[in-house]
Amino acid sequence: MRLAGIGHRYGDAPPALTDIDVTWEDGGAYALLGPSGCGKTTMLNIISGLLTPSEGRVLFDGVDVTDRSTVSRNIAQVFQFPVIYDTMTVAENLAFPLRNRGVAPDRIKHRVGVIAEMLEMSGQLDTRAAGLAADAKQKISLGRGLVREDVSAVLFDEPLTVIDPHLKWQLRRKLKQIHHELKLTLVYVTHDQVEALTFADQVVVMTRGRAVQIGTASELFERPQHTFVGNFIGSPGMNFLPAKWSGEGIEVAGHVLPARELKPTLGDAGEFTLGVRPEYVQLAAAGQSDALPAKVQKAQDIGTYQLLTATSGDTLIRARLSPETRTPKVGDDVWLHVLGTHTCFYKNEELIA
Ligand code: ATP
Repeated sequence: MRLAGIGHRYGDAPPALTDIDVTWEDGGAYALLGPSGCGKTTMLNIISGLLTPSEGRVLFDGVDVTDRSTVSRNIAQVFQFPVIYDTMTVAENLAFPLRNRGVAPDRIKHRVGVIAEMLEMSGQLDTRAAGLAADAKQKISLGRGLVREDVSAVLFDEPLTVIDPHLKWQLRRKLKQIHHELKLTLVYVTHDQVEALTFADQVVVMTRGRAVQIGTASELFERPQHTFVGNFIGSPGMNFLPAKWSGEGIEVAGHVLPARELKPTLGDAGEFTLGVRPEYVQLAAAGQSDALPAKVQKAQDIGTYQLLTATSGDTLIRARLSPETRTPKVGDDVWLHVLGTHTCFYKNEELIA
């Protein structure tokens, strides 16, 4: 599936989507991740055919489907809230998309059985949907989205919103397992990074109508291509320190960190931003020349790690330290390593090195 040069505007409003170019493999699991209003649902509706884009083309297997209806695109969609028939049983609900397309009864029976088993609903097949709790109803909705074998893709728009947190975790794992078993192309919209990163092979990170990076969980974590990704992914997000080149090193908060090997890439960059994840900031010995002096503002014990918040001049730095590390106290002077193989450099929000 390919979105080529997609842009969309609702009336005279600023563009909801700009320059979207993505190609997805058949059978892949993808997530669209970004904050509210970034254009995720707009993109999903353009894929499904509920919306015709103002610009660009949608291609399935090389065929231009931009002007085709949802039905002829052969797409299944699962929404935030259950879309099921209360008067029908669980089995009848699951069978509905197949009956609609004239699939043979024995094939329907088989397929409903497979999906019900995957969703752990085999025992409820003859129960009327009306009496079920909201999360069981949403499971049926998921099942209806997955029951057809002939779809080009299944689109999920925040499908676990109504599910309670514990079951959410289970269902997410279940969906991943189902993906492995059914090998359907799945596109999943969410604003929750954990949901996106655990579900998808590739995540499209979106902000203000743009896809700023498409990558695996580890690519988004290790090499954010844009400061938005560094900040949005991670808990807490990446540290961004204003920096500039100075002689043989990088000047941060008035302190020069030796970095001669970076001169060819950063020597002429002028002012830039140093990005380092809290996981990669480490305590250094006092006065160490390649570390940054800072004062501890906050020290929180989060259980599996300690979160240190410190300032170097006006620059805020967070460090995720292992629980075994000696904990500095509020007001302590500390030295922090911020330069290493995991450090990224940005100019105008884009990764430069
Ligand atoms: P959310 O997570 O809140 O659903 P989203 O990332 O899915 O957000 P969209 O719903 O695609 O974002 O909205 C993108 C932009 O387009 C927003 O600024 C929104 O206000 C605007 N928008 C969405 N639908 C319409 C519409 N039917 N008419 C006018 N503007 C719209």
